[in-house]
Amino acid sequence: MEEFELMTMNDGETSQFAERLAEFLKPGDVIALEGDLGAGKTTFTKGLAKGLEVKRTVNSPTFTIIKEYRGRLPLYHMDVYRVADAYEDLGFDEYFEGDGVTVVEWAHLIEEQLPAELLTIYLYHQGQEQRKIVLKPKGPRYEQLCKEIF
Ligand code: ADP
Ligand code: MG
Repeated sequence: MEEFELMTMNDGETSQFAERLAEFLKPGDVIALEGDLGAGKTTFTKGLAKGLEVKRTVNSPTFTIIKEYRGRLPLYHMDVYRVADAYEDLGFDEYFEGDGVTVVEWAHLIEEQLPAELLTIYLYHQGQEQRKIVLKPKGPRYEQLCKEIF
């Protein structure tokens, strides 16, 4: 499967990339974010929210698991780091199949519950402020999306 990658030199660049990506998103799109603590998953989500014209401040939903924001499209921001049971049905499907865009931090922790088609984005530390961002599309919708962006 084709992969797409870019390098960012600071948090602003990661945020800007996400903001641009957001312009191409449609209802029902699902983005899985992977990367160590501090890699930039939440920073990325904040940029995406800006691109979706979300006015409220986006914070990490660590303790609530799911937060919903209103924008050009609804944004469903999940952080499943603290989900104790990977199989527990917390109603994720309703979000994935909803009219908004879903972003899932630490998505692999609920791998069995993820939709078959999605865009996985990996963020890798490359130094203090440098990050490598790798996009792996799964399914035609997301392959097309990546081609539009790159
Ligand atoms: P995560 O959600 O993956 O744990 P956060 O987005 O909360 O990560 O934190 C990333 C931290 O790294 C922030 O303090 C951010 O300012 C900093 N940072 C430095 N360089 C970058 C970069 N290139 N991209 C994203 N974040 C960066
Ligand atoms: Mg985070």
